[in-house]
Amino acid sequence: MLKGALSHLDGAAKYTKVHPEVLEKLQYPKEVMSARLFVRMDDGSRRSFRAWRCRYDDTRGPTKGGIRFHPEATQDEVVTLAFWMTFKCAVAGVPFGGGKGAIRVDPRKLSKTELERLSRAYVQAFAQMIGPERDIPAPDVYTNAMIMGWMADEYSSLVDYPCPGVITGKPIALGGSKGRDDATSRGGFYVLKHLQKELGLDNGSERRAVVQGYGNAGYHFACLLHEDGWKVVGISDSRGGVYDPEGLDPKAVKACKEEKGEVSKYAEGRDNVEVVDNDALLCKSCELLVPAALEDQITESIAKCLDARVILELANGPVTADGNAVLERRGITVVPDILANAGGVTVSYFEWVQNRQGFYWTESEVRQRLKQIIQEEAMHVWSLSKQKEISLRTAAYVHGLERLSEAIEAHGTQTYFHC
Ligand code: NAD
Repeated sequence: MLKGALSHLDGAAKYTKVHPEVLEKLQYPKEVMSARLFVRMDDGSRRSFRAWRCRYDDTRGPTKGGIRFHPEATQDEVVTLAFWMTFKCAVAGVPFGGGKGAIRVDPRKLSKTELERLSRAYVQAFAQMIGPERDIPAPDVYTNAMIMGWMADEYSSLVDYPCPGVITGKPIALGGSKGRDDATSRGGFYVLKHLQKELGLDNGSERRAVVQGYGNAGYHFACLLHEDGWKVVGISDSRGGVYDPEGLDPKAVKACKEEKGEVSKYAEGRDNVEVVDNDALLCKSCELLVPAALEDQITESIAKCLDARVILELANGPVTADGNAVLERRGITVVPDILANAGGVTVSYFEWVQNRQGFYWTESEVRQRLKQIIQEEAMHVWSLSKQKEISLRTAAYVHGLERLSEAIEAHGTQTYFHC
């Protein structure tokens, strides 16, 4: 995975002047730690879980990145996600480097008390690595505000003072920021709205969307589209999806998922709603396809069959390298993850700032600041792509690389020292 991600760095380096030492530095993670977490289960038995944390690059500030609980998590995935975070923070212009963490576990198979013990065990294992000035985790796949609250509490116990700034995405009562829960989707939505004319998706065109993944990112994004007059024709989760050419009601689909455990049950008793598997859903005709689940969903074969005009990557790395090549050949525009989902880390940055100041903002202040940052960076990426005649993905990497290179070169390179 990391090799694939690094190919974007090489691709971007062709379009901007950077010192070879910058590229060399960005080839490798600064720090990767793995641990085995031993946790007492409710039945008295003890189980162990593999866990990782990576700080990829901290030239621009403390590292920042989510913690994922997933049965297929790997070290390679964690390092790759931390690499993407390094570029995402640079694209958003927030003063952070990139980090990431994971536990290999299916959290749906744990009780709530087991989940709490596991979350606290993660902080105990990585306490030397994380910290408000060093590395600041956040939620990711299958982790949420409550888990962040437990983790912040565990860290505060270890250092023996309340330390909310060690982690973001916390419950508001524990120092979380207003507007963090839907920040990732809202950021993606601001990108979409700001570039809608350029993308050919303004109000005059037909606007049908398919959303893959119905967790934090996918659900809020579907709601924002629906409120804006889009028809959300398809929605899926890990167990399958539903499709209605007339448009689904995102809140009703969510209520069904909460009640019955899966999105596809929404079709029960509704003749107009079709149950579809995940691959079939990705290939339904729409103007906007929004992968909001996991990496590597849009493979070469899916890219050949999908019928969307624009893909907005709310998930990290949802398109494989082969898939990306097919999409480029087919002229399908991809709004890349490091821009499209940067709203999450931007509001995480706001949360960290508020924790350090001890002064909290209103929801409208959060949204206004988010909008300003995201619109500016989105337009910059769009202009770069036009100016250099490159894809939005390459343009986003060029933008991130320019910021990273400025910071790395400010420490001096051979050009400075060898004089
Ligand atoms: P989440 O755990 O809240 O939701 C994940 C959703 O994806 C669930 O509904 C799950 O059922 C679904 N899913 C899993 N495998 C699937 C599959 N094969 N097909 C369809 N659906 C599938 O996670 P999230 O926070 O919404 O994160 C989703 C993606 O967005 C991830 O790639 C994550 O890294 C990225 N992201 C999240 C944030 C954030 O703030 N939450 C920020 C930036 C990026």
